[in-house]
Amino acid sequence: MRKKAVCVCSGGLDSTVAATIARREGYELHLFHASYGQRAEKREREAVKEIAKVLHADVKFAEIPFLRALGGSALTDTSIEIPAVSEEALKGEEARETPPTWVPCRNLLILAHACAYAEVIGAEAIFVGFNAEEAMSYPDNSEDFVHRFNFLLEKAVSSRSIAPKVVAPLVKMFKPEIVRRGVEVNAPLHLTYSCYLGEEKHCGVCESCMRRKRAFREAGVKDPTEYAQAKEKAESEE
Ligand SMILES: [Zn+2]
Repeated sequence: MRKKAVCVCSGGLDSTVAATIARREGYELHLFHASYGQRAEKREREAVKEIAKVLHADVKFAEIPFLRALGGSALTDTSIEIPAVSEEALKGEEARETPPTWVPCRNLLILAHACAYAEVIGAEAIFVGFNAEEAMSYPDNSEDFVHRFNFLLEKAVSSRSIAPKVVAPLVKMFKPEIVRRGVEVNAPLHLTYSCYLGEEKHCGVCESCMRRKRAFREAGVKDPTEYAQAKEKAESEE
């Protein structure tokens, strides 16, 4: 029987590269997408379905409605504005501040759901796209978080199951390296969706779009993304 992996997939760049790596390593893939009231939910789901086809994976969608009801984050509460971010703001000390797009306990809750799924289907690994770049401002993306969560997981499953392990193959990487790795493993980067806003096209100015743009440029890889505001913004700056 093939070994199974649950791959937590937002439909974005990092989680899609991580899932493709899992496939390369011979796992049978079970993509797992969480809806927690994020603005981009519909668009993310569409992306995940397309990615699943290419990776020959099935998809499980989970709802975490409490996070939507709770609000308190620009991703889940439309009364909080998603800021446009400059590339400069993503460097240095400012990059370490907690942005308004932080969702309290999101990764903890998503991983707890993914772990329940893994136990039921007998998956031995849970792949995630956590990376060093986002860990600078989001502590639940860090290597330390993965290590501590795995420690906890040993006591979170029944005694008849072997606890799955969270595997974060990109945890030491910044985004340009992730794009290059994605090209190496032939990840469907063109199908990924990163924007916080959830419009059809990527907005081009939110933090996630800025990171995505910079990643492709610094990786020296042609960016397949169509950005809605890239053109108007360039014009207004003239
Ligand atoms: Zn955006």
